[in-house]
Amino acid sequence: MALKITALAGGTGGAKLVDGLTTLLEPDKLTLVVNTGDDFEHLGLAISPDLDTVTYTLAGLANPQSGWGRTDETWNFLQTLKEFGSPVWFRLGDRDLALHVERTRRMKAGLPLSDVTRAFCRIFGIDHVILPMTDDPVRTIVETDDGDLPFQEYFVKHSHEPQVRGFRFEGIENAKPAPGFLQAIEDSEAVILCPSNPWVSIDPILALSGVREALEGKVTVGVSPIIGGQAVRGPAAKMFQAMGITPSACAVAEHYQQILSGILIDEVDAELAPEIEALGIRTKVTQTMMKTQPDRKRLAEEVLAFTAELIEAESRR
Ligand code: GDP
Repeated sequence: MALKITALAGGTGGAKLVDGLTTLLEPDKLTLVVNTGDDFEHLGLAISPDLDTVTYTLAGLANPQSGWGRTDETWNFLQTLKEFGSPVWFRLGDRDLALHVERTRRMKAGLPLSDVTRAFCRIFGIDHVILPMTDDPVRTIVETDDGDLPFQEYFVKHSHEPQVRGFRFEGIENAKPAPGFLQAIEDSEAVILCPSNPWVSIDPILALSGVREALEGKVTVGVSPIIGGQAVRGPAAKMFQAMGITPSACAVAEHYQQILSGILIDEVDAELAPEIEALGIRTKVTQTMMKTQPDRKRLAEEVLAFTAELIEAESRR
């Protein structure tokens, strides 16, 4: 019988593994919970970058080159906006814009983000449940040498160049996990932490009240987003460095040490396995780079097989 899983994800790395998982697990066996700490309001629009990356990916509409936005895009809106001298650092294509206008309209009419997301999934023909981590506003602020920057300003406007000092998740104290999130964990046999940025994609999800408690006693399996000491994409490795930690798969394991039962690390990091095992975290070495569609499925298969092994080992204890 197939496992019942909850997967926690950010955008780029998260969406790729999630894509693999959805080809293997039926919708009633998999709940996807996505970071909303990257969300912000721009040009009066409600923007949810990670949710949209996951949604577009599962809809088969994601742009594989950019890692954000849609494939079949045109740019008339942005071009016209530029002529007005308006801010265009955050790029919204015409079709993407339509989604944002509609999400904002529905939210202004009082619908929570989770309801809007469910409706969009139906429209895109996505059968799996995608939950934003919360319906309440949580805003990741990156504390840098250039001052405190809302995440998208740090990441997009300033190309993640400012020196990072720390992070905070504004609004997290009052934010409730989205309806169904904690229940999904309770109903799941295991929770998967996708290869997303630990600091700004997974930590905000884990910081929501009740989430760490819900994970206690649950088999939790991660996939390292750090391969050979580097991030595949984005500032994750730089962030470890900024926090005084040498980036490595081992550093990722240590970061999640409180909650992790097992972790999949890349073949190039095989020599780190004993060090991670010594932390009490079971370690599987495999190819974790997802360059192609078959890579996503193969890694998801390995994640599920390893998870099943850990569940089995747990049940024998
Ligand atoms: P973001 O919200 O767009 O930053 O997306 P995520 O946090 O989900 O993903 C960013 C992380 O994904 C980075 O730290 C990358 O190293 C990692 N990543 C991207 N592609 C891959 C991949 O193919 N394999 C692994 N293991 N990690 C990946």
